[in-house]
Amino acid sequence: MEKKKEVEAGTMLPVMEAFYTIQGEGTFSGHPAYFIRLGGCDVGCVWCDVKDSWEAAKWPVLTIEDIVAEARQYPGRKVVITGGEPLMYNLNPLTTLLKKEGFTTHIETSGAHPFSGEFDWVCFSPKKFKAPHPSIYEVANELKVVIFHKSDFDFAEKHASQVNKACKLLLQPEWSKAKIFTNEIITYAKSHPNWNISLQTHKFMDIP
Ligand code: SF4
Repeated sequence: MEKKKEVEAGTMLPVMEAFYTIQGEGTFSGHPAYFIRLGGCDVGCVWCDVKDSWEAAKWPVLTIEDIVAEARQYPGRKVVITGGEPLMYNLNPLTTLLKKEGFTTHIETSGAHPFSGEFDWVCFSPKKFKAPHPSIYEVANELKVVIFHKSDFDFAEKHASQVNKACKLLLQPEWSKAKIFTNEIITYAKSHPNWNISLQTHKFMDIP
């Protein structure tokens, strides 16, 4: 099969980088995990800290067998698929193979494309720049909203009203605005205790 068709089928994927580190954010903060960052994103967040990921063509296209073989070199068996926007791709073949090899599978997504893949944990982080696809609300395990502007609290509530009942609700200060919004987020969580706070601990620890 030619490469383009393999990418469409999800049997080959553009990989910007893959690395073993500590999950810094959300419910699994502090857990060792192997991150697979897929290239390609059409969401366009102004504060994106991985703008290099946007253009998929810049990154090598690898077979899912090679991607998983690389992951197996590390002792951890938790994989986080991120991007870019990973749901631009059919993630069924990659996640099926990862699970067959004994990995638990997590995804970090803006939900801007139809959901695919077999995941143990779905982190849904909606962005104002491209509306989520409706398929994400039922499968999200955590809703993580980045607070960059005052209006993001209303944005967070709008999505919280649509996710499934078991979904955890997290507010996270955008790194460059943390000084401005951290106190407001603390006050908000204390008065709306269904929300918890997520911090980008990997940035405090200076790890990828
Ligand atoms: S969805 Fe993620 S990768 Fe895409 S622009 Fe937004 S922050 Fe960057």
